[in-house]
Amino acid sequence: EAKSAGRSQIRYFNNEMRKKLKQQADIENDLQNGIKNGEFELYYQPIFSLTQPRVVSFESLVRWHHPKNGLVTPDDFIPIAEQTGQIIELDLHLLELAAKQIAQWQDAGAGNICLTVNVSSRHFASLEFVDQIASLYRNYGLSQGALSLEITESGLIENLNLATKVINGLSPYGVKLYLDDFGTGYSALGYLHQLPIHVLKIDKSFISQLTDEENPLVDAILSLAKSLDLEVVAEGIETSQQFQLLSTKACQYGQGFLVSRPLKAAQAMAFLQTEQIKLATAPTLA
Ligand code: C2E
Ligand code: MG
Ligand code: MG
Ligand code: MG
Repeated sequence: EAKSAGRSQIRYFNNEMRKKLKQQADIENDLQNGIKNGEFELYYQPIFSLTQPRVVSFESLVRWHHPKNGLVTPDDFIPIAEQTGQIIELDLHLLELAAKQIAQWQDAGAGNICLTVNVSSRHFASLEFVDQIASLYRNYGLSQGALSLEITESGLIENLNLATKVINGLSPYGVKLYLDDFGTGYSALGYLHQLPIHVLKIDKSFISQLTDEENPLVDAILSLAKSLDLEVVAEGIETSQQFQLLSTKACQYGQGFLVSRPLKAAQAMAFLQTEQIKLATAPTLA
């Protein structure tokens, strides 16, 4: 009795494991085809000044039009691509889409639009990445600072020297380094002043807790940024109260559903043309 229960449990686990492995193998396969077939689309979310009614850049966020599963969000495939190493190829593909989009917007007379692109910290383990970014700037005629990069802290600390070389190699192109999800990773503060990064993005988990004038964690991050001479973007601003509090706290930039969700390219353009002025009034309306 006990034996057969045990056996069926093992069978259950084996089946579950097999299913999981199969799912991963499918995604791995599908990713490869997806890149080839152009199934990935970048959405763009405005990053705005908290003191002026002005959009300063857009963050590109990938969406996958999967032939069977419909629209898939990054949390369902980026971690797997990181595991399999496909993230390198995927990121390069998405960087190219971003560069192409900037060039298109420039041609359409939209002026100097900046994009920040999320990339794996794996790229910062090789100087090859500098050449790859340089080619994008060349091939698409991008102006200085048109492309910037968002990375999370964890992978960078493993090889500070090399990462620093890569970041310095990118600086002639005006590529700014945004440290994403700040406060959620290792936060080994020692590395912060060693790395030539430019911007901290306060993770949205801190912003969602921002309901009072006093918020020790957000205040600490802001004063840390100030003393290290880094700019700050608060991500995940959903309420006008958060907007207001952050602007009085001397946080320069923000991003979040209050102002805009991630938009398709055409909508992002329309947003610039028609909605921008609302930024000034949004926080006082509610
Ligand atoms: P992230 O870079 O920290 O991006 C912020 C995430 O928060 C995005 O989710 C965005 O849609 C969402 N968000 C923005 N404003 C708000 C808000 O006000 N409230 C809430 N609740 N959420 C908000 P998304 O697009 O699902 O992306 C998830 C993560 O996937 C990103 O986190 C980033 O780490 C990764 N990712 C996205 N696109 C790419 C890409 O092209 N390449 C790589 N390597 N990673 C990507
Ligand atoms: Mg990001
Ligand atoms: Mg983030
Ligand atoms: Mg994130």
